[in-house]
Amino acid sequence: MSDTIYIALGSNMGNREKNIEAAIDRIGKVEGTRIVSMSSLYETEPVGYLDQGRFLNAAARIESTLSPLDLLKRLQEVERDLGRVRDIQWGPRTIDIDILLYGDLEMDLPELTIPHPRMEVRAFVLVPLKDVYEIKLINGKDINVLIDNCDDRNDVKLYRCEVSE
Ligand code: AMP
Repeated sequence: MSDTIYIALGSNMGNREKNIEAAIDRIGKVEGTRIVSMSSLYETEPVGYLDQGRFLNAAARIESTLSPLDLLKRLQEVERDLGRVRDIQWGPRTIDIDILLYGDLEMDLPELTIPHPRMEVRAFVLVPLKDVYEIKLINGKDINVLIDNCDDRNDVKLYRCEVSE
């Protein structure tokens, strides 16, 4: 049986759009996993470490038969594959992939917390998620109200409008 899962993607190095596309392409090829829909791309100001370039952020709705931990492992492989600089050493990561929601599952392990612990306060996660999220409630709270309460709500700008099913 496959579960409906929502993931977030972000990139602020290299060709950001290509990095996100390449990640989605690879995630769609993971065993037992398919991309159901993909959000528009949003350009966002960095949160936390401000001394870095703007991000492109997106979200996707996927289905997978993999367990949460197996899926995390596969997503981390995609991150590593795309983040690797071509010559000798590991370079900085060009893509960040987070699991936001995995069906109705709640789990709290050191390596994986679902729902993603910081998603409710980050407009750069919630705004793309809204494009592909059918339910509109997160932990019983309206996603629009959550977005309105985010400090970074004005720092998320539509970059490429294209929700794909
Ligand atoms: P980051 O560098 O921000 O992508 O964080 C990656 C770390 O967060 C990894 O060590 C993961 O094991 C951990 N992690 C915890 N919960 C999640 C989640 N829901 N999705 C992705 N990574 C997670």
